[in-house]
Amino acid sequence: MPRAYVGLGANLGPREATILRAVDLIAAVPGVEVLELSSLTETEPVGVTGQPDFLNGVLALETSLPARELLDALLGVERELGRVREEGERWGPRVIDLDLLLYGDEVVDEPGLTVPHPRLHERRFALEPLAELEPDLEIPGRGPVSVLLAELH
Ligand code: ADP
Ligand code: MG
Repeated sequence: MPRAYVGLGANLGPREATILRAVDLIAAVPGVEVLELSSLTETEPVGVTGQPDFLNGVLALETSLPARELLDALLGVERELGRVREEGERWGPRVIDLDLLLYGDEVVDEPGLTVPHPRLHERRFALEPLAELEPDLEIPGRGPVSVLLAELH
């Protein structure tokens, strides 16, 4: 079964409880087997500043679902946990953000689904927990996660 990595982030409400609840809901998705959750670390907002700090982590899982069905399941968990997408608001505060960072070594760029996640290679808050789980991991088209981290200032 392909191995996938999911980025988890929250900066509103009880962040840790929400992230752990998201992991439970993901584990309950048929065809998904959760492997390991990274440590959760506090990070400053990127992009839109002046919002609360985030708690971020990465979840490793195996799945029989195709990438798009896995992403749909993740977006369903976001909705179930009460995420409301504000019109025109991007990178703003959110109770939960679930990103499909990697899906095996697949490279997909379609409407509504880009894998590897298009900003993964430049986001310390995603690369660090990923490297904690899998230091030798290769980001398709970008290189080893450890090298990408070392290149960030
Ligand atoms: P971001 O995670 O960059 O802050 P959003 O969470 O608002 O942005 O996601 C915007 C949209 O990006 C989602 O509705 C989803 O359909 C799309 N999308 C495409 N590829 C991915 C991916 N790999 N992971 C998560 N969302 C993705
Ligand atoms: Mg997202």
